[in-house]
Amino acid sequence: MLNIGCHLSSSKGFKNMGKEALSIDANTFQFFSRNPRGSKAKAVDKNDTDALIEILKDNNFAPVLAHAPYTLNACSNDAGLREFAKNTMASDLEIMEYIPGNLYNFHPGSHVGQGVETAIDFITDMLNSILDEKYNTTVLLETMSGKGSEVGSSFEEIRTIIDRVELNHKLGVCLDTCHIYSAGYDIVNDLEGVLEKFDKIIGLERLKAVHLNDSMMPFNSRKDRHEKIGKGTIGLDAVIKFINHPKLCHLPFYLETPNELDGYAAEIKLLRENFNDIK
Ligand code: FE
Ligand code: FE
Ligand code: ZN
Repeated sequence: MLNIGCHLSSSKGFKNMGKEALSIDANTFQFFSRNPRGSKAKAVDKNDTDALIEILKDNNFAPVLAHAPYTLNACSNDAGLREFAKNTMASDLEIMEYIPGNLYNFHPGSHVGQGVETAIDFITDMLNSILDEKYNTTVLLETMSGKGSEVGSSFEEIRTIIDRVELNHKLGVCLDTCHIYSAGYDIVNDLEGVLEKFDKIIGLERLKAVHLNDSMMPFNSRKDRHEKIGKGTIGLDAVIKFINHPKLCHLPFYLETPNELDGYAAEIKLLRENFNDIK
């Protein structure tokens, strides 16, 4: 069974995201933990989160993935923005306890002037001050395209962050296919080699989720522009090989392609049709 879903708007609440996922034959989904610009989170309605938990259980959903706001920058050189990042993530992890056992993904951040070493120190300081055994959520670092001064566009940087976090059994990685292709990992012509590298540097057991996107930009462009599945530089064949790879096929896949709900439904259908269930 292919575990696949897409990014859904959280504005209608938790239960309705579950229903919306079912309506497009998804068995997971991603949502923003709060407004993408990072405003205050809404108070949680426990009836609503309990209703979602029922839907997830009854329909054998794969873990759902909350995405931190894009404005969260744990390695900003502005102490106030770092404080905002820390408070936002801590409060998001509290909210995630209403739907325990799921995933929370964030962009490691962008450094401006202070360099990647200091940036990594800021990120690990934040994680060390937030992560706690009481949380039942796996926190994922997303692989980035390397646009501007993004941290996390190399497997080595991700590994360094993980190594410096004390409770790193709470950490995993979310691989974004568009981002790593832009960052110079050739999943079209050398998927085997890329997975070997990932395994050697980070460890495949850390890989917990995939953002499944095609890319508008050429290989190694260090640009971040998602494209519809099969319409970009990665192409349908490579995407189909990716989801069927024996080391990847069990993972949850989340589409972040430029689509409305009907477009997502069509991509999910296409990918289900091209998924070989006998592995
Ligand atoms: Fe992301
Ligand atoms: Fe992504
Ligand atoms: Zn992206």
